[in-house]
Order: sequence, then C-alpha cells, then structure tokens
Amino acid sequence: MDADSDAHDRQKRISGWNQDKISAQKVMVVGAGALGNEVAKLLLQLGVQKISLVDFDTVSKANLNRCVFFSNEDAEKNALKAEVIAREAKKQWPAAVVTPVLSAVEKIPEEKWDEFNFVFGCLDNLGARMHANAQSYGKAVFIDGGTTGFMGKVQVVRSPGACFECGLGKKDYGILWRKYNCVGEVVDWIDPKMPALATTTSVVAAAQVNEFIKLVHGLEKESLAGKYLFYNGLTGSTSVYEVPRRSDCPVHG
Ligand SMILES: [Zn+2]
Repeated sequence: MDADSDAHDRQKRISGWNQDKISAQKVMVVGAGALGNEVAKLLLQLGVQKISLVDFDTVSKANLNRCVFFSNEDAEKNALKAEVIAREAKKQWPAAVVTPVLSAVEKIPEEKWDEFNFVFGCLDNLGARMHANAQSYGKAVFIDGGTTGFMGKVQVVRSPGACFECGLGKKDYGILWRKYNCVGEVVDWIDPKMPALATTTSVVAAAQVNEFIKLVHGLEKESLAGKYLFYNGLTGSTSVYEVPRRSDCPVHG
C-alpha cells in the first residue's frame, strides 16, 4: 500500500508505533456527552475497532456547542446520544464496531466490565465516576476526564496503583448526595448544569486518549498512571500530581 492510501500512515511513522495493538483494544466510553463525543472521535481516528458507548440520555440543543457528532435535527428528535455517535461513526469508519449501551453506568452487568481493556470516564458526576472506577479496577485501565469552564482534569487508574477513590477525602463521602462538578467542587444539586467550553473539552479528551496511546505502547513511566493532570485554560498551564494509594480504600483496601 502506498503512503497516501493508508488512513493510519502518518501515525505509523511515530517511532515504535504498533497499529495492530491500537486497533485491537476493546474500549468502553462511559458518557456520550461532550467528552464522550471527543474521546470517541479520537479513538476512531486512531483506528480502534471496538468501542462501546454507555449513555441513556438524549441530545439537546445545549449539547451542540461542544459535541462534534450531534446535529440540530438530532436535538429536535430527542435522539439518543449513544445511538447518534454510533450512526455517525458508521459513515466515516465503517470497519469500526461502535455499540450503544443505553443504560445508566450503575446498571451495567458486572461481567460486562470484563470485556474491556480501557474504560474512559466521560461523566458529569462523582457517583457515576466512583462506580466506573470500582468496576474497572483490576480489569481495565480507567482514564477519567472532567471539565468545568476553563478548567480540566485527567486521572489515570491502573491497578495495583492508586484509584479514583483513593483521591477522595472524608468531605467527599460526607456529602456524596450532593452533585459534584467534574473537577471536584461541590455544586448546588438543584442546578447541575456546569459551564462547559468546547476548547477545554478538546484538550481534556485529547489528554485522555493520549494516555491510552502511551499505555497501549507500554510507556507506563511516561504515563499518568497513579497520577492526575490538572489543566488551567486561563493560564495555559498543566500540573501533574501523584495520588497516594490509600490502604483503607473501599475499592481495593
Ligand atoms: Zn483506591
């Protein structure tokens, strides 16, 4: 095949690149909102062939400022987010199998989590994140992303290292009934609609999928495994922090 006939030619030019390994990964994307759209797009561009998308929510006009796969028509028809992404993915990447899972993350059968190597957290609340973290731990790498306005966060959980819940404090458990935003600030549970920006979404989703690329290629040392990255879009800076493994963590303690 000549260089311009291969969709993955340019990425294959990266030293050590293994396209077969990338294509063979089995990935679950939990949440088909802003981050879910962007993460799914990047995975498809990379050539990942098996993606399950978990979401039971429908498209609304308020999604259109940051969700690449959704259209006005989808919003008018109240189309299901996960089904729209699967439908659009089929047009451009017919070889990829994108499966919508129309369910709350808490209702996914336990054995289903065994099918995946990577789970992407593209969620808007703490409870769902904790569930995805607990179900993935020891089975799949959990790559969680969150955004609020100009701020974003990416955490990579890989057993036996620290998990998402290791990073939570007493105050998190005490007020779990309240809605949290994606970078951990408590917000009013009556109004769960967070400020959201397409630019922050793109940066955070790209950082999440970049971690996937590194871990597939065995670049553990370079990865954020056991750490989290904080992105500040106002200052244009990123910081990386270690997450200590808690011996009393309910997920693996
Ligand atoms: Zn833990």
